[in-house]
Amino acid sequence: LFAGSCDFIFGAQKLGQLPPQTLPEIAFAGRSNVGKSSLVNALTGRKTLARASSQPGRTKQLNFFDLANRLMLVDMPGYGFAKAAKSVKEDWQGMMFDYLRGRPSLRRVMLLLDARIEIKQHDLDAMKLLDRAAVSFQLVLTKCDSVKPTALAQKEEEVLALTKRHPAACPFLSLTSSETGQGIEQLRAELAAFALP
Ligand code: GDP
Repeated sequence: LFAGSCDFIFGAQKLGQLPPQTLPEIAFAGRSNVGKSSLVNALTGRKTLARASSQPGRTKQLNFFDLANRLMLVDMPGYGFAKAAKSVKEDWQGMMFDYLRGRPSLRRVMLLLDARIEIKQHDLDAMKLLDRAAVSFQLVLTKCDSVKPTALAQKEEEVLALTKRHPAACPFLSLTSSETGQGIEQLRAELAAFALP
């Protein structure tokens, strides 16, 4: 799956523009700067993600990447810009909810959390949105190389507790580092399980 091609298909700014649902889809979401581009690049072994899409102030869109014609990876716009106006935040929630609700091909959302940073209200809001949309989500800790083992263990416990409070959450979490490659093979195997044969 990861040895083949990974082609950028489309950037959708409106829900009317989404590509057809021909492949199982896995979306990646998280706060801006959580390490989403780095993780997807580590997974695909390519600099596939349009970084511009995750920068504040740029046009936000859903970016679709076709992985070897077997799986669609979707880069969701980063949330949690402190500067964003309330109307922008509400637009994001509205558009994401509509996407999540109206996409039967979407199998799972990987919700990224920065291992170094406290879990923010924005993250909890994203989890609530996924619960409401009833889309299975998996919590993924990023940048695990940059925290000490004791702090990481504490974080792990905190995040596992969250999975119990959110009905749409998978009852496990993934520990990853794009720097060291920790957890990347494991996550690849999990993605491959969703792909077409
Ligand atoms: P995005 O905005 O979520 O797409 O985040 P990026 O992938 O652009 O990463 C944001 C920042 O975090 C960059 O400065 C990266 O170098 C850093 N970063 C990303 N992944 C890792 C990681 O696994 N370990 C460490 N230490 N830093 C990382």
